[in-house]
Amino acid sequence: MLQSVFDVNTIRKDFPILERKVNGKSLIYFDNAATSQTPKQVIEVIVDYYSNYNANIHRGVHALSQEATDAYERARTKIQKHFNAKHAYEIIFTSGTTHGINLIANGFSSLLKKGDEIIVSALEHHSNIVPWQMLCERTGAILKVIPMSEEGELVLSEYDALLSTNTKLVFVNHISNALGTINPIQYIIDKAHGLGAAVLVDGAQSCPHIRPDVQDLDVDFYVCSAHKICGPTGVGMLYGKEEWLKKLPPYQGGGEMIAEVSFEKTTYADLPHKFEAGTPNVCGGIAFGAAIDYMNAIGFDAIANYENELLVYATKQLEQIENLKIYGTAKNKTSVISFNVGSIHPYDIGTILDKMGIAVRTGHHCAQPIMDFYKIPGTIRASFMFYNTKEEIDTFIASLKKAIMMLS
Ligand SMILES: *Cc1c(COP(=O)(O)O)cnc(C)c1O
Repeated sequence: MLQSVFDVNTIRKDFPILERKVNGKSLIYFDNAATSQTPKQVIEVIVDYYSNYNANIHRGVHALSQEATDAYERARTKIQKHFNAKHAYEIIFTSGTTHGINLIANGFSSLLKKGDEIIVSALEHHSNIVPWQMLCERTGAILKVIPMSEEGELVLSEYDALLSTNTKLVFVNHISNALGTINPIQYIIDKAHGLGAAVLVDGAQSCPHIRPDVQDLDVDFYVCSAHKICGPTGVGMLYGKEEWLKKLPPYQGGGEMIAEVSFEKTTYADLPHKFEAGTPNVCGGIAFGAAIDYMNAIGFDAIANYENELLVYATKQLEQIENLKIYGTAKNKTSVISFNVGSIHPYDIGTILDKMGIAVRTGHHCAQPIMDFYKIPGTIRASFMFYNTKEEIDTFIASLKKAIMMLS
């Protein structure tokens, strides 16, 4: 088989935004964990949709509606194949990870009773904490938390101790957005299944870097957002095992999700439409499929190898800087580096870097419990994708040193 040759300079030509200047400097975009950039192959699909076959789907007999429906359903099948789901109808289009999590949390309202237990991890994004707190308030279920270590890894012996026959659900992210830790989800899934609990994995940070196989993992639910894997905002997917999706009630009522409606009784549509009320983000779904094609054409092994090189390269240089502390030093991590320098406020460094054209994120990264653990208000987070370069990292390090001089 021909190995695809990974050439970052060729890849960068696919991303028009990387050409632009910010504050007079060439943009260096290191905020990929918040949202990734969009290649022209995906932008062209969006332009083509609105230029040529924009229509509402599933209901029309006319040509445009047929074309849009076919393209949307082809995208669903692409996503199914990518994640190796057994059936295309196990892929539900959502508006993103947050929507997918809320859909499941809402569905479990009718399945949980007082005293049931839900386990989440200390490494979660707010979107993976708040919906469960709301679910517990509605049902009387109890929320338990798998603690983390100083390195930013989950303490699995504590997880084992939390599990019991009362555990009904376990929620964990595959990769932490704040620290980059890759969590041992196979272990977490197997243990939970041993006690009959279901597992939802938040794949928002993993899908840009690795290709999960939902059947191999035997995961019950898996969610992600297209905008973190080179697709547009406002669309994502929820994978659910057929048996679970059949058991859960619909999330929203409306058009598309019904079989028959009368004022006495409404029967729901089959999967996946039962969970897709209203006109979906048709263009977004099609572009999501194009983003997956784009990433697969480069290849996830090549992506992971190259991003790991960037991670190692940047980490080594950051470690040389006096008073700089990296948070999250897990053995297994992706290309996310969270750090602080002495007592300098992360926001001040972020502001100066922006003046130099460098986009990083500062703050709590929607993961305040992690910041509380380290007793810090926030961090500076640099997160890399396969279109970033070592030269950009060199510029970033030099600019960071300048910023530190200015602020000390
Ligand atoms: C970005 C992110 C989310 C939220 O994704 P949305 O697209 O904002 O819904 C949830 N979890 C993790 C780990 C994330 O990185």
